Amino acid sequence: MDPFDLVVLGAGPGGSTAALRAAELGMKVACIDRRAAPGGTCLHIGCIPSKALLESSRIFALARDDMARHGVVTDAVRLDLATMMKRKDRAVRQLARGLGSRFAQSTITILSGTARVESPTSVRVDGTDGSSRLLHARHILVATGSRPAPLPFAPFDGERILSSEEALALDRVPESLLVVGAGAIGLELGSVWNRLGTRVTLVEAQERILPSMDAAITEEAADLFTRQGLAIRTNTTVRSLLPALSGVSITLDPEEALDASLALVAIGRTPGTRGLGLEEAGVILRPDGTVEVDETLTTNVPTIHALGDVTPGPMVAHRAEEEGMALAEALSGRPARKRPAAIPEVVYTHPEVASVGRTGQDLQEADESFSVGTFSYRANGRARTAGETHGTVRMLCRRESGALLGVHILGAGAGDLANEASLAIHQGCTADDLAASSHAHPTFGEALRGAALAALSA
Ligand code: FAD
Repeated sequence: MDPFDLVVLGAGPGGSTAALRAAELGMKVACIDRRAAPGGTCLHIGCIPSKALLESSRIFALARDDMARHGVVTDAVRLDLATMMKRKDRAVRQLARGLGSRFAQSTITILSGTARVESPTSVRVDGTDGSSRLLHARHILVATGSRPAPLPFAPFDGERILSSEEALALDRVPESLLVVGAGAIGLELGSVWNRLGTRVTLVEAQERILPSMDAAITEEAADLFTRQGLAIRTNTTVRSLLPALSGVSITLDPEEALDASLALVAIGRTPGTRGLGLEEAGVILRPDGTVEVDETLTTNVPTIHALGDVTPGPMVAHRAEEEGMALAEALSGRPARKRPAAIPEVVYTHPEVASVGRTGQDLQEADESFSVGTFSYRANGRARTAGETHGTVRMLCRRESGALLGVHILGAGAGDLANEASLAIHQGCTADDLAASSHAHPTFGEALRGAALAALSA
């Protein structure tokens, strides 16, 4: 039998985008996933279910705490958690059905099972139906994503020591929750349960929350989240975490003993490269388990490629998707796309936090000269009318040329504003270009223009 042009391991955003685009461009493609439905972490246990719960819990908190300010009186607001969870599951099912039908209408050979690279040109698939099949391939794509990293001394038990997957599917509101790690996942899921009535404590080893983002923005965000009721302990580590009779017992460093109903460990994610046969096939892995790839997403073995969460870089779905598209096009002989100059990172708390490009800390460490323009949501007309006046846009520009280097936003709609900032940075725009382009009034986007104007006069 003729080999496949491309065999894809993993049908997450990266693998499924690559498989669909390659098939569309005429390549003979096979795609294997352990899950019956494509979509990966993002669709089934990541972006989509978490955003559904963030939306529902926000509406609940709005009805309970904020509606009266708008003159809307809701006397007896009550939570129906089972319906909230069903709505989340329905959103996942509907999107999975849509993606599944795109696969079904394509020419892709879809296999359900566990895949392993057997040589630089072959992949073994142990099917969920007990079958075993060897696929021959001109190119192999490793898109097996990542899984939650446990604390070394407190493995996940799925009942009291939870990963994000279980924290997205609780059937009751816990009285208290200890969240280990104040990154995007810890803050988002901590916010969901805090809004629904749980007492949430977040513990972060570094000196601030969201340590990879711009410090000025994350400090303002920490203040707001504390006011929303999240207890945040930075510069604090968990020394021990043990299941107890009715929850978990925790010892912190600096010394403090805490009890909580549940613990969510959100300290990061481990690339899914173990047991894939990569090293045996000659692929070099980095000490953290990620696969080293070049600009063309190719490993040191020319027929083996990798993208998304298994490779170094931000673990976000849009990077995986964009890389999937770029790889499929390059393998089918299309001219290479220009890679994005910056990849937005967004935390869907309320308000949202978004970061595109370089942070103030990066620039200071590199001793580069830059100017800063800031604009407060308080001065934005749309924010006033919406009652969303918390937040700031912070724009960092090269001092001599005004070229945009980074845009960092805390505020309503920050995730959507990040896309304009991403385009501007990608196109090499200056603060002047951004200030000169028309922004509809009244919109949150005017705050970006305000920050650009401020950068020009800084
Ligand atoms: P994945 O989506 O992880 O897909 C990998 C697939 O490979 C999986 O389906 C897995 O079953 C399969 N697989 C693994 N090993 C094998 C094997 N040996 N054989 C066969 N199949 C295999 N990102 C955002 O951009 N925005 C968000 O809002 C966001 N929210 C998130 C919230 C949570 C709670 C979590 C956990 C993650 C979130 N992410 C978010 C991150 C995002 O989900 C990942 O970055 C993205 O899914 C990575 O895509 P991928 O294609 O690299 O891998």
